[in-house]
Amino acid sequence: MSSEFDLIARHFTRATRQTDLGVGDDGALLRPQAGMQLVVSTDMLVAGTHFLADADPHAIGWKTAAVNISDMAAMAAQPRWITLALALPTVDEAWLAAFAEGFAACCAAFDVDWIGGDTTRGPLNLCATVFGEVPAGEAVLRSGARAGEDLWISGRPGLAALGLQQLLGQRELAADWRVPCLAALHRPQPRVALGLALRGLATAMLDVSDGLLGDLGHVLEQSHCGALLEEARLPLAEPFAACQDAAAARNALLRGGDDYELLFSAPADLRAQITALSVQLELPLTRIGQLREESGIELLAADGTRSTLVARAYDHFGA
Ligand code: ADP
Ligand code: MG
Repeated sequence: MSSEFDLIARHFTRATRQTDLGVGDDGALLRPQAGMQLVVSTDMLVAGTHFLADADPHAIGWKTAAVNISDMAAMAAQPRWITLALALPTVDEAWLAAFAEGFAACCAAFDVDWIGGDTTRGPLNLCATVFGEVPAGEAVLRSGARAGEDLWISGRPGLAALGLQQLLGQRELAADWRVPCLAALHRPQPRVALGLALRGLATAMLDVSDGLLGDLGHVLEQSHCGALLEEARLPLAEPFAACQDAAAARNALLRGGDDYELLFSAPADLRAQITALSVQLELPLTRIGQLREESGIELLAADGTRSTLVARAYDHFGA
């Protein structure tokens, strides 16, 4: 039976590239660059709530790192360091090896050093804390949006929600869409390059983890404004192609969580610049509506009718 210390040595000790002292002592030593603000964020994943306990451990490891790194992207920060605290019910070496590989692979993909953590026995629970840097004063907050600005979304939101429905046996996706939908669910790609490129352009930003409408609600609340979404502008084509059901595609796009796309606002005179950025990053960026003084979220349908949408995000303690 492995000791806690064997496990740490075998699975959790990795070479670092931008750290003075990593795993092995009572604390890690980091050297933030002069003139930078340190950005810190923690995200916990619980079996049964954030992932299915029987999911591929490599994917669980990837996602544990990815959801944390995504928060750095959403702040327009460069992610640099991460710690991982985990509780394990038993020691399953094969599971741990794959999990640690997945976590390390995501860290490596985004140039993040894995510098420490904690390992204990308990119900499966994974908690990472990520540290990033942003030039002082340049972080993009949720509170900076203003009426009259455009609202943008990256990527193809909705695919992860459809992937989950497929996994739970609630939906049969078109065969050629199963892989991309499950990839969106299991291996979300933090939009780090986009977040960095939007410094000085986006006025407010967050990463969509609990559904576009609910997370938009957080921006609107902190920015004291409302939004008009235009249905004809929503990037619905791909979710629709995956499930061939207009209502389900729209629901996945507006209410599905777990895509980790960036939702951001920007002044209308930056449209050409943001479109050019989309080409440069090879990442769809779609202008889905506008911010306005009037509070709440309204949807303008293709036929000109308007309806009010409820900005409800997934709430772990909600009814
Ligand atoms: P302490 O008893 O001083 O808190 P630990 O015995 O918990 O230290 O951890 C020993 C070293 O291993 C520390 O550097 C810690 O950061 C690292 N470590 C423990 N668990 C993990 C993990 N899951 N991932 C990365 N590093 C870990
Ligand atoms: Mg100690």
